Amino acid sequence: MPDRYAVIGNPIAHSQSPRIHTAFARATDQDLLYERMLGNLDDFAGDVARFFASGGCGLNVTLPFKTAAWALADERTARAEIAGAVNTLIRLGGNRLRGDNTDGIGLVRDLADRYGFQFQGARVLLVGAGGAARGVLVPLLETGLDRLVIANRTPEKAAELALLGAEHGSVRACDFNRLASERFDLIINATPAGLNQQVPPIPSTCLAPDGWTYDMLYADEPTSFCRWGQQQGAARSLDGLGMLVEQAAESFWLWRGIRPDTAGVYAVLRGARAQR
Ligand code: NDP
Repeated sequence: MPDRYAVIGNPIAHSQSPRIHTAFARATDQDLLYERMLGNLDDFAGDVARFFASGGCGLNVTLPFKTAAWALADERTARAEIAGAVNTLIRLGGNRLRGDNTDGIGLVRDLADRYGFQFQGARVLLVGAGGAARGVLVPLLETGLDRLVIANRTPEKAAELALLGAEHGSVRACDFNRLASERFDLIINATPAGLNQQVPPIPSTCLAPDGWTYDMLYADEPTSFCRWGQQQGAARSLDGLGMLVEQAAESFWLWRGIRPDTAGVYAVLRGARAQR
C-alpha cells in the first residue's frame, strides 16, 4: 500500500498540489498517493483526526483552515509559530502532529534560487498584512535584506506585523501615501487584489531602477500586479506559481526526507507562458 497524503481545503477542486506532489513522487521514486480533501467547514478537526487515524502520513492545509491547523497541531516549528498559520501537518509518534509553515521559504527559494534575486542588502516592500504576509515575514527577514517595509490598506495591521517581526530584523510599517520618497529593489504583493483586477495604491516612484516585482497570486494570465510591474519597468515581474511549487517541495522534504528537483514541475505548470 502506498503512503497516503492529501491537501485539505474548502474549496479544493482548483488545487494543483496533487499534481505537484505526484510529479515529485514519480521523480524521486517514492511510493505514495496524494489526494484532494474537501474539508468540512464545521469539523476540520474531525476531518484531520479521521485522515490520520485511517493511516494518513501527512497533510497540506490550505484556505480557510491554516489557522485552525495551527491551533490543532500538538507542536509547531518556530516559523509556523510566528506565522500563526500551518500549511503542513506531519505525523509524529503517539498520534501527535507537528505543524509547519513552508510558504515563506517557498517564496524566498523561488526568488533567490530559481531567479537569482540578491536579498543581501536589498530594500524590500511587502504589501498586505494578512495570513500570507505574516507567513513570509520571518523567512524574508532572515535573508540578509537591508530593510523590510510593510504597507497595508488597514495601516494598523501593518504596524502589528512590523512589531511581530522586529526581533528578527529591520522592519517597519509605512502608509501608502508616505511611500513616495522611498525606493525598493523588490516589491512583493501579498494581497488578493488581483482577483478583482485591482492593484494596491503603491506610488509609481517606489520601484528602484532594476527593481523586481512579485505577486504571490498566480493565474493563467499575467495578474494585474504583474502587469503593473511591467509598466513600472521592473527588471522581472513574477507571479506566485514558483512559490507554490517551492512550498510543496519543502513539505515533501519534511515528510519524505528527500528534496525533489522543482525545475521540471515548474516548467510544466508554467507551460509556454513567458515571463519577463
Ligand atoms: P488575506 O485575505 O488574509 O489578506 C488580505 C490582505 O490583503 C489584507 O492585508 C488586506 O488588507 C489586503 N487586501 C485585500 N484586498 C485588497 C485590495 N483590493 N487592495 C489592497 N489591499 C487588499 O489573504 P492571504 O494573506 O491569505 O493571501 C494573500 C494572497 O497571497 C492571495 O492572493 C493568495 O492566493 C496568495 N498566496 C499565494 C501563495 C503561493 O504559494 N503562491 C501562498 C499563500 C498565499 P486589509 O487588512 O485592509 O483587509
